[in-house]
Amino acid sequence: MYLIGNGYLITHDPSLPFMKNGAVLIEGDAVRDVGDTGKLSKAYPKAQFIDAEGGVIMPGLINAHTHFYSAALRGYSVPGFHPGCFADVLLMRSWRLDRELDFRDTVNAAYASAMEAVKNGVTTVFDHHAGYGSVSGSLMGVAGAAGAVGLRACCCFETSCRLGYSDEKAAEEENENFIAFCEKQPSGMLKAMFGLHAPFTLTESSLKSCAARNAGRTGFHIHVSESGDDAFVSTHTFGQLPAELLKNCGILGGRTILAHCVHTTESELDTIAESGSFVVNNPQSNMSNAVGCADAKTMLSKGIKLCLGTDNFTPDMLESARAFITAQRDKTGDPSFGLNEAAKLLFENNRLLAEEYFGKGIGTIKPGAPADIIIMDYKPYTPMDESNYPAHVLMGMSGRNCVFTMAAGRILMRGRKLLTVDEAALAERIGKSTAALWERISAGEAMKIVPAFMYMMEEKMG
Ligand SMILES: [Zn+2]
Repeated sequence: MYLIGNGYLITHDPSLPFMKNGAVLIEGDAVRDVGDTGKLSKAYPKAQFIDAEGGVIMPGLINAHTHFYSAALRGYSVPGFHPGCFADVLLMRSWRLDRELDFRDTVNAAYASAMEAVKNGVTTVFDHHAGYGSVSGSLMGVAGAAGAVGLRACCCFETSCRLGYSDEKAAEEENENFIAFCEKQPSGMLKAMFGLHAPFTLTESSLKSCAARNAGRTGFHIHVSESGDDAFVSTHTFGQLPAELLKNCGILGGRTILAHCVHTTESELDTIAESGSFVVNNPQSNMSNAVGCADAKTMLSKGIKLCLGTDNFTPDMLESARAFITAQRDKTGDPSFGLNEAAKLLFENNRLLAEEYFGKGIGTIKPGAPADIIIMDYKPYTPMDESNYPAHVLMGMSGRNCVFTMAAGRILMRGRKLLTVDEAALAERIGKSTAALWERISAGEAMKIVPAFMYMMEEKMG
């Protein structure tokens, strides 16, 4: 039994959202009591006290869209790489990496990303894995690393036709097998979705095949209109806009994640809103790929459940939230837009998504909720209370303020030191392995546009 106290307490529980000297009692994997530090210390004298030292105690953060595998590319520069558009980024960098990833690389990258997540106060991730160098069993590798570090993870494999029929079918099978595994071994820490890359590298028949294989057991996790490529290919090949195509193929729904939706029309947003699908905004990734800025204002006005992710551009959800605020203000020309909306995305909608998979109470601190709790080393110089704490969190903190991370009552990190894994040993192993991976990527050719779309055109031509 732990008592975490002596700090500002943010709960995201409307009945008691904020306390100045709050404390949380943890028993097993759940929160048992919440209240004043002095009162709870007297009531539970045998609990092991964890001192927040005047910092901020709050629920663990949730990342609604990330790619653990892409950590393998940090610091790597493709020789002679000067992308002219988003397709170049995919063909010359992302797809070159995922084609070379073997099982060991997948596990190593997942460890690197999971460790960084915990050190940035993230306790739940929705990961979207691609690794066509080793498809079968790869999700168990991602899940194994996330589990060893102690994260809650919802995993999937991005099915794509870009490498042809056999790889596409292998990806479908990997999703199906992993979903079956998660069904047979129910766990509060590990969940499955059915992964899809994006409409422009999938065909109508492959989308329908995935929907049939999934048979409503879980939601889909797919990129949609990150660039203009989805609308171009969907319209010219299938005669439908991406959201309509996905609706007609049975992909949309209340447990589905659509990442990005930067180039989505207003009528498509109506379709998405009607379906109840979640949309995930990844502001830094979008700006980095020069694909634009999603229309969050219209999405929210239509009641779309807009969430926040990182695309693994950063492990830091607070950095991503701050980028959302500034990008949206720049886009709308409205300096009053963004702050409350970022709080809604990160603290409310990401929680709703996590509840769909990990159960009620996640993302809050209240009796009975899962014990996913972080302490931020943040002592405000200006007043902080119930009315303005979101501004302090979103504008004053970064993930690196996190000094303590707990998930399901297990302490994962304390004093910036990971307790579940040997970070230094893993870093050495990952470094050596990644150097060999980079050599393979550099030696391999960039993917050509023709193979990427050959399969699709073959199907279209019959
Ligand atoms: Zn992504």
